[in-house]
Amino acid sequence: MRVSRLMLVTLRDVPADAEIASHQLLLRGGYIRRVGSGIYAYLPLMWKVLRRITTIVRDEMDRSGGLETLLPQLHPSELWQRSGRWQGYTAGEGIMFHLEDRQGRELGLGPTHEEVITSLAGELLRSYKQLPVNLYQIQTKFRDEIRPRFGLMRGREFIMKDAYSFHSSETDLQNTYVDMDQAYRRIFERCGLEAVPVEADSGAIGGAASQEFMVTAEAGEDLILISEDGTYAANQEKAVSQPHPPVPLEDAAVAVVATPGQTSIESLCTAQGWHPSQVVKVLLLLARLDSGAEQPVLVSLRGDQELNEVKLVNAVSRRLETSVLDCRPISADDVMRQGLKSIPFGAIGPDLADDGLKQAISWTKSFLRLVDPTASALKRFICGANRPDVHRKGCSWNDLDLPEPPLTADLRNARAGEPCLHNPEVKLTEKRGIEVGHIFQLGRKYSQALDSSFTNEAGQQEPFWMGCYGIGISRLAQAAVEQHHDEAGISWPASIAPFEAIVVVANIQDATQASLGETLYESLLKQGIDVLLDDRKERAGVKFKDADLIGIPWRIVVGRDAAEGMVELVQRSDRSMRKLPHAEALAALSCALRP
Ligand code: ATP
Ligand code: MG
Repeated sequence: MRVSRLMLVTLRDVPADAEIASHQLLLRGGYIRRVGSGIYAYLPLMWKVLRRITTIVRDEMDRSGGLETLLPQLHPSELWQRSGRWQGYTAGEGIMFHLEDRQGRELGLGPTHEEVITSLAGELLRSYKQLPVNLYQIQTKFRDEIRPRFGLMRGREFIMKDAYSFHSSETDLQNTYVDMDQAYRRIFERCGLEAVPVEADSGAIGGAASQEFMVTAEAGEDLILISEDGTYAANQEKAVSQPHPPVPLEDAAVAVVATPGQTSIESLCTAQGWHPSQVVKVLLLLARLDSGAEQPVLVSLRGDQELNEVKLVNAVSRRLETSVLDCRPISADDVMRQGLKSIPFGAIGPDLADDGLKQAISWTKSFLRLVDPTASALKRFICGANRPDVHRKGCSWNDLDLPEPPLTADLRNARAGEPCLHNPEVKLTEKRGIEVGHIFQLGRKYSQALDSSFTNEAGQQEPFWMGCYGIGISRLAQAAVEQHHDEAGISWPASIAPFEAIVVVANIQDATQASLGETLYESLLKQGIDVLLDDRKERAGVKFKDADLIGIPWRIVVGRDAAEGMVELVQRSDRSMRKLPHAEALAALSCALRP
């Protein structure tokens, strides 16, 4: 391909709305163009990268027994009603784009395909003899993300490879899960990406394993915790550790302490000379349930710990045996809107009485009380006295008048520097990561909900065991740039670069240079190398800058020395340069690309 015919439009300046390097470079290099919020056009260079990634993904999926399919993107609402997800995905902060057709029927644009595939499997897979089956597709997904950002990282329309497997037993599901884990490791490696597998949250259904693949990068939206010995890695949503021990509080009778205006742990501890680990902090949140109910939740945590919202949602959901749409802090305004007397924010104790909720308009009239083990383990502690500006010092859990014993559940964030559970000598470290893939043992959640079953060996009907496996293809492409770039531009891993090599003719008006450029270009094409020829009538400097920016792994520069038959062979990754006779440059290049 000739650069003059490539529709290459590069930008010198950093686009104002692009915050991270990979997003800036893809825009500047003419790879993508923003069409709307979270909506991007993949320009020809980008499309080549995406095609190379999908080739690798297809190859590995096929190798592990996957069957490629293509499912519809328009999903009738009934399917999602049957799984119980329509409401959660379309109302409130739901992420499914949805619409009504001319007959007034509701449809959703597929954000994921469990519903469609599970119902198809129920119709097509009748007997255990047909199992296992692993179906995959590579397709555009739609999600009305609350915060689309960072270009292809979090789009509202993006390309995903999603696969779903169906099994007659849990053991069989586990086998495929292991195969997918292996396939994913090969895929990321072949794409030139360093991706760390981490334990991931598997929602409230619990038990089932789930693993994410994280490309470590400063710009990552996820926080991951990795043990120093490398044997444990988890998303913070799921990570566990041993908390540091608390600073003990001396044994003394309960004392009431005036704490005027000291409504945060920090201000309280500074004013009183207490350590945050001596305080039980009580947070008030509202859980919105699938049923529409609104449940006030009182969470007790040790004062030096942070609440993990994913763990909280899962704990509430387990306790109430229902899906929880979200949990958010309750504000003084919310309390007023419910017609309630004020709540002593900043001085709440774990024993805040349910009475205060009696007049609530739409909230459930008693608190759901949850305690993190860091708080329940404290023998003596400081906590709010349920009156503004007053705390109690030296409380024990027995001193508190609770309507029922609170539920103890891990609700805290694990943090860097804390000892690991598997070995307290080993500490956790923190890194940021970009989630490029996710594998998940779904179990029978969807097959049960959608009545999707097969006849087992004993002749009985049984819901399928299911797994699902996703890769964000377009996100992966950008993550590769985040991991492989320098100040001059992108440096694509050779396996997914849009072209393998570029021949840059420094001065196309110079007949000798032009003709040697053509010769080299033709000869590389003949060898089956996907090569670009920069034949534009631009200054040499512009062409070199563009070549650096778009990041083709190898470059042959045909310049003044063309008269002596000499060229430069440049490797983009380390920008190393060799001056060689042109025949040797060709040989070195084909040796590097086709070893
Ligand atoms: P996230 O937590 O980042 O929102 P998710 O867990 O909702 O992602 P999955 O449903 O597991 O995503 O989707 C499979 C893969 O699709 C993810 O691992 C990710 O690589 C990719 N992906 C998800 N959402 C987006 C998006 N908005 N834009 C681009 N890629 C995405
Ligand atoms: Mg995920």
